[in-house]
Amino acid sequence: MANFKTHLSGGFVVSGILGIVGYKAGLLGGHEFLICVALGTIGGLLPDIDSDNSTPIKLGFDVASLMVAFSLVMHWRSELSLLSLIALWLAGYGFMRYGIFYLFTKITVHRGIIHSIPYMAVLALGLVSLNYYFMDTPATTSWFYGLFLFIGAMVHLGLDEAYSVDLLNHRMKRSSGTAMKLYRDRERYWYVLLYALIAMAIFIAPPFAPFWNKLTDPITWLILKDGLLPSQIFASLTSTLN
Ligand SMILES: [Zn+2]
Repeated sequence: MANFKTHLSGGFVVSGILGIVGYKAGLLGGHEFLICVALGTIGGLLPDIDSDNSTPIKLGFDVASLMVAFSLVMHWRSELSLLSLIALWLAGYGFMRYGIFYLFTKITVHRGIIHSIPYMAVLALGLVSLNYYFMDTPATTSWFYGLFLFIGAMVHLGLDEAYSVDLLNHRMKRSSGTAMKLYRDRERYWYVLLYALIAMAIFIAPPFAPFWNKLTDPITWLILKDGLLPSQIFASLTSTLN
């Protein structure tokens, strides 16, 4: 298994390169490009969120706990005294950080169901619909956001897979099975549920055709070709070739 740093840079580098390609091809605007790279990087860390000792999950829970505590205080700030607010802040933080986190670590098993292709597909499709229906993001952009999250997650699973195989192509830990998994008999009911969720998510997802048309539009790739080289060099190159 690859470590946290490898996953962080893997997700960042791959989504960064793809994001620049998308931006140069005119598929993504400036701030969409940034969101795509951020989502790809998050995707690169996502499959390990069920690891109880993993850095991202601890960090995530710390941030979430602080935010919950802070919003509780903000909500009651005029009604309660200063001392009660401090008590509320501590109680909110403690409940999230120790109560909910404890429950979360109890019910999840690392490298279980979350560490799989279909689970990541559900999350990516969910993100597409969330953006389209609740954030007023255009369909094409929503699909790009989901795609980048999914690509980041696939980079993660691919890295885990690569790190579990040594140079002579021997699998180092047979027990761990494959990282890029689509199904596991031991968790068959979970997988049936996941594929049902995928079918449902595809059914409610925003239209896919405009996204696909934009991606396969020859104009898109002409723009990209134009932006490939510094314009001066490109112009002189084409004139020498002609
Ligand atoms: Zn992993």
